[in-house]
Amino acid sequence: AKKQVKSSLEFYSKKLVDASLKRIEMEDALQKAVTNKQFELFLQPIIDISSSKIVKAETLIRWRLSDGSIIAPDEFIPLAEQTGLIVPIGKWVIAEACRFLNELKKTHQEIKLSVNLSPRQVADRQLLDFIKTTLTQQDISPELLELELTEGVLIDNYDKVHYLLTELRTLGISVSIDDFGTGYSSLSYLQKLPIDHIKIDRSFTMSIQDNEQDQGGNSAIILAVIAMAKSLKLGVIAEGVETDSQKEFLLRNQCHIAQGYLFSRPLPFNEFCKLLNTKN
Ligand code: C2E
Ligand code: CA
Ligand code: CA
Repeated sequence: AKKQVKSSLEFYSKKLVDASLKRIEMEDALQKAVTNKQFELFLQPIIDISSSKIVKAETLIRWRLSDGSIIAPDEFIPLAEQTGLIVPIGKWVIAEACRFLNELKKTHQEIKLSVNLSPRQVADRQLLDFIKTTLTQQDISPELLELELTEGVLIDNYDKVHYLLTELRTLGISVSIDDFGTGYSSLSYLQKLPIDHIKIDRSFTMSIQDNEQDQGGNSAIILAVIAMAKSLKLGVIAEGVETDSQKEFLLRNQCHIAQGYLFSRPLPFNEFCKLLNTKN
């Protein structure tokens, strides 16, 4: 029995060592990716489903390895957040989004872009100045830039966030609450903070029932969120729309702005522009 205990201990510590080696390797690779700017910013269209036109797009980062393969953000954003590398990565994202806006301005002045912000970025004191400078450099009207923050980010850094959002509002940059409904937080911040839109999390969109008469069912939450957004005069965007029946449900229930694979996956800038030319 003693031997067995020892070998399972060895097994676990080897696993731990392997895991930390992998983490160190990955951190090293991510640091290099930051230096060499091995990222790409994809765009996922956000649609007005009553007109089928593209009104804005969410920017979503990808890490491009030298062999051409792509690493999804869920696989490196948490590490970037832990190590602080998210700060330079986030600056690159903002700069790239502004560069896109500058390109788009030539043909599609109406399109806005949204950028995801993580907790470390919000805590970064230089963020606001960086955004201002980048907008000026690219000659972009602040109204064209939107920022997405999760409920968790708002609550954990309440005082900083209050200041930041107030400054952003003054500049004309709008703010959306991302993954709304998953943060288990009090809703009072919706009235206290200058927020423009809420993005209904994909899990609620998924629970929309095909059956129109499903009053007490899973669609009850999404209906309540739409009603609440209206009464607080907030815009509402449904995330993760994948089926026609979800789209029809949203249209019937006055949620006209939506995003999801039904309309388009996230696309490289050139492909996004092609789609824009056919849709708008
Ligand atoms: P998110 O902000 O909630 O972004 C939406 C995610 O849902 C994207 O995944 C998008 O591709 C995916 N999605 C969109 N429509 C559908 C749909 O109809 N069905 C399904 N199953 N998925 C859909 P992605 O691009 O892998 O990004 C994952 C997360 O990584 C994002 O979640 C966001 O939290 C984070 N992220 C992405 N880009 C950035 C960035 O530039 N900065 C920061 N801080 N975080 C980012
Ligand atoms: Ca988002
Ligand atoms: Ca989201």
